[in-house]
Amino acid sequence: MANRLVTTQPIGVLGAGTMGIGIAQVAAQTGYTVRLFDLSDDVLGKALAKLRVALEKLEQKGKLAAGETELVLGRILPTSTLDSLSDVALVIEAAPEKIELKRSIFAQLEGICPPDAVLASNTSSIPITAIAGGVKTPERVVGLHFFNPVPLMKLVEVISGMHTSAETVAWADAFATSLGKTTAKCIDTPGFIVNRVARGYYGEGLRLVQEGVATMEQIDKLARLEGNFRMGPFELMDLIGIDVNLSVSQSVYQATYEEQRYRPNPIQERMVQAGDFGRKTGRGFYRYDQ
Ligand code: NAD
Repeated sequence: MANRLVTTQPIGVLGAGTMGIGIAQVAAQTGYTVRLFDLSDDVLGKALAKLRVALEKLEQKGKLAAGETELVLGRILPTSTLDSLSDVALVIEAAPEKIELKRSIFAQLEGICPPDAVLASNTSSIPITAIAGGVKTPERVVGLHFFNPVPLMKLVEVISGMHTSAETVAWADAFATSLGKTTAKCIDTPGFIVNRVARGYYGEGLRLVQEGVATMEQIDKLARLEGNFRMGPFELMDLIGIDVNLSVSQSVYQATYEEQRYRPNPIQERMVQAGDFGRKTGRGFYRYDQ
């Protein structure tokens, strides 16, 4: 294993969706034992099937040693019982981007995880201070913001809430670094660094389409060919999940006292109402084979 583990205790990942799966994968590939929590065995079964496909592809490409898929999968222990997180050194919450849900999850985790465990959220935009506001030990709550797709994206933002301790930040930073990630420490601000900057990328793209200035295909192509971006804004929103992207837009907008440049766009709202969430549902701005 290239990187030194910062703990031999298991780590918990809560939420086995797009981000939870990716975080569990990189942690298990590094050598950590991962307790992967989601609400049902059905969701967990699907998550493990996706993980197997991703790992087998890596093995076929020679990026994982022969037989390593089974070893890595063997380190991921699925569970739909929250009490299974009673022995973790760290839990990373990757549940839906809803503040009340996250606050309730952290209040439960505080009673279940060991008293010295670090409680991290992968939130894209909800203030860490607000998540920590509902717990008795806010000093151990921190943001660990991974990017999508987790195995490929190098950056992790490490976010301090108002009462996060320096020890918690240092530990979380060392953990992310042990996964081979590059970290950027920042304080709690709406959208942190990357999502704050990226609001304009999505928002202006949507406005250009809304005003009939250009098609989404033109905008995506220009962003790739002229802007050197890996993906245009519409391709990226489909990857992220339109539902997740809309929730982030809404929370940055609310947190900035309705700053007009961050106003969510009705195009996204309609797509979410229709259940067109992007790649994960097979239909977003573009169509995808399921
Ligand atoms: P997702 O919708 O793909 O997955 C969320 C998972 O949480 C689902 O498996 C769901 O079953 C589970 N869940 C629902 N309620 C739960 C509960 N009460 N307890 C535990 N699990 C529950 O979402 P995602 O895209 O993985 O996003 C998760 C978090 O990561 C969000 O806070 C999001 O803002 C953040 N994030 C997302 C991206 C992205 O590109 N999708 C990037 C960075 C950060």
